[in-house]
Order: sequence, then structure tokens, then C-alpha cells
Amino acid sequence: MLDLAIIGGGPAGLTAGLYATRGGLKDVTMFEMGLPGGQIMNSSEIENYPGIKEVVTGMELMEPWPEQCMRFGLKHEMAEVKQVKKEGENFTVILASGKEVEAKNVIICTGSTPKRAGFEGEDEFFGKGVSTCATCDGFFYKDKEVAVLGGGDTALEEAVYLSNICSKVYLIHRREEFRAAPSTIEHLKSKENIELVLNSTIKNVYGDKMGVNGVLTVDKEGKERDLKVPGIFTFVGMNVNNGVLKQDDGSFLCEMSAYGEVVVNLSMKTSLDGLFAAGDIRIEAPKQVVCAAGDGAVAALQAIARSL
Ligand code: FAD
Ligand code: NAP
Repeated sequence: MLDLAIIGGGPAGLTAGLYATRGGLKDVTMFEMGLPGGQIMNSSEIENYPGIKEVVTGMELMEPWPEQCMRFGLKHEMAEVKQVKKEGENFTVILASGKEVEAKNVIICTGSTPKRAGFEGEDEFFGKGVSTCATCDGFFYKDKEVAVLGGGDTALEEAVYLSNICSKVYLIHRREEFRAAPSTIEHLKSKENIELVLNSTIKNVYGDKMGVNGVLTVDKEGKERDLKVPGIFTFVGMNVNNGVLKQDDGSFLCEMSAYGEVVVNLSMKTSLDGLFAAGDIRIEAPKQVVCAAGDGAVAALQAIARSL
């Protein structure tokens, strides 16, 4: 029986493991289906992690984490978790292999993944001008023009955020109407340096080995427009990695938001005793490494408190 099972080994899961084991929990296993480190390992540059003064790659940032986090006894099992159940006092963690592991507490840290829009050049220039994170990459385009794709709350909020850093923001949306909240639409429209490019999609993003040079949009009449921007931010929805919480009858193990994120309180407690969530999987996550790590620490301290 584990004292604590941690599902996911990104910044949230690793930090939860560090705090849980250093804080005295004995049997703690982190189930991570890939290499520990999480999605930041795909980033070519990160400059907003406190204490790391130079711009480093995500890989460089995360490289020392597993060794430090496992120093106090955290175990890593490289395995995909299929489902987490609770019948009675304890949890059952069911792995893709069919193996079942019992645990007294569980922290879910499986993250969420931005969807790709599917235009030409998106994958080629991802991380080299195409981004899904304005907080992470907006500053690289200070006083420059950028484009944003999408018409939901995220796209509009991030377009407003970017408009405070960049000289101009082109907001490209495939329809006339936005699906964002009315107040967010009003806020967007109050920004003089945001230009709406409506009824339009991205045909392709082009550039060279230095990065993106521009984006070609096409409207419903087939008219093309060449926006010479070095950065394009896509916000076309998120896949929340909540599958492990889905039960056999289709319900979730704990309360979820309408968008599929785990509802937690400020202690990272879910609606189910002994189950915690940390990082990008939780409601209102700022989706930053420093925040995910902070969440992991909070959740672990709560798991320790519950075990005393
Ligand atoms: P994740 O990092 O997503 O980790 C979740 C882990 O869970 C993954 O390793 C995954 O393999 C594992 N997992 C999922 N499902 C299962 C399962 N069923 N079984 C076992 N394991 C599972 N943040 C910043 O602060 N600054 C930046 O500059 C920055 N740049 C970014 C650039 C890019 C390209 C991307 C993609 C993200 C960037 N972020 C940045 C955001 C940052 O990466 C996330 O906020 C952070 O990684 C979230 O951590 P997490 O631990 O919650 O989730
Ligand atoms: P979303 O609401 O699903 O919006 C995605 C947007 O991207 C839509 O406008 C969609 O266009 C567009 N889109 C999807 N696929 C596309 C493609 N391949 N090419 C071009 N455009 C594409 O996603 P989200 O904005 O990330 O929000 C997710 C959920 O979180 C939403 O329910 C949202 O309300 C919520 N949220 C809330 C807040 C808040 O309350 N402050 C903040 C952020 C997010 P169509 O409109 O034509 O479908």
C-alpha cells in the first residue's frame, strides 16, 4: 500500500514527490508514462522561472529535477495510468498493463495539452514563432506585431494580454461571432492596437531557419492576406488530460468544471477526501511551471497532513 500515488511527472508531480518524501511520507510512487519533466521539455526557451537568470531550453530547466526530487525516496514507475478508483478507504491506481496499486492518497498531475489548429507550417515552426502560450513567449515580441488565432475566451484574453506588450495584435478568427464571454469581447474591442481579421483562417505560416516571417490568411471569399509578423499564437482549445479520473459509468471520480478541469480549493483538495490535483489539470491554472510546482508542493503538504 502506497502512502501516496502521484500521477504524472511534470513540474507538479515531481515537486509533489519532493515535498511528500522530504516531509516524511515513506512509500511514494510517481507514475509517469514518459521521461519525467512534463510538457515544458518541448519548449526551446524559458526565461520566467525564478532563479534561472539565462534563457534556457525546457530540457535544460528540467534536467536536474528528477535527481533532486528522488533524493528523499520518491520512486518513479514508468507507466501509463488508465484509471484511478476509490472503493472504501483507499484508492486503486490501475495501470495500462493491468497492474493495480493501492494508495492512501493520490495527487493527479497529468496536465493539459493545447490543441493544434492544423495549418501548414504549424508543426515546423512550433517553438520558433508559433506558440500556444502568451505568458511564456509574449515578451519575445515586445514592441513587435503578432497574430493570434481563435475566438474563444482564451484567444481573446491572451490577445488583450499581448496587446499590452506588442505594438499590434491581429486577431484571426474563422467566424464573425466570438464564443468568448461578452465582457471579454468588449474588453478586446476597447484595445486600439488589436485588429480583427474575421471570417478568416490561416492558410500557412512561412519563414526560414531563423523563425517565422509571416502568416498568410484566407477569408471566406478566398481573398488572401499576408501579415508580416514574427509570432503567431494559437488558442484553439485544450485537451485536459482527465481520462484517469473517468469511471466505468462515464462519471468522474471527483467534481470537474464544465471544461473538464479538476475543481480544487486553495489546498489543492478535490471534492473527494484523499484526492488532490495540481498543475495544469486544475481549474484556473495559470499554466506556468512555477505555478505547477507550487501546486505540487501544496498538494503534498496536504497529503502529509492527512496521513498524520
Ligand atoms: P505537464 O508538464 O503537462 O506534465 C504532465 C505529465 O503527466 C506529463 O509528463 C505526461 O506524460 C504525464 N501523464 C499524462 N497522462 C498520464 C497518464 N495517464 N499516466 C502517466 N503519466 C501521464 N511555462 C512557463 O512557466 N514558462 C514558459 O516559458 C513555458 N513555455 C512553454 C512552452 C511550451 C511549448 C509548452 C507546451 C508549455 C510551456 N509552458 C511554460 C507551460 C508549462 O510547460 C506547463 O504549465 C507545465 O509543464 C505544467 O506542469 P504539469 O506538471 O501540470 O503538467
Ligand atoms: P474554445 O472555447 O473551444 O475556443 C476555441 C476557439 O478556437 C473557437 O473560437 C474556435 O472557433 C476556434 N478554433 C477551434 N479549432 C480551430 C481551428 N482548427 N482553426 C481555427 N480556429 C479554431 O477554447 P478556449 O478558448 O481555450 O476555452 C476553453 C474553455 O475554457 C471554454 O469553455 C472557455 O469558456 C473556458 N475559458 C474560460 C475563461 C474565463 O472564464 N475567463 C478563460 C479561458 C477559457 P469557433 O468559435 O468557430 O468554434
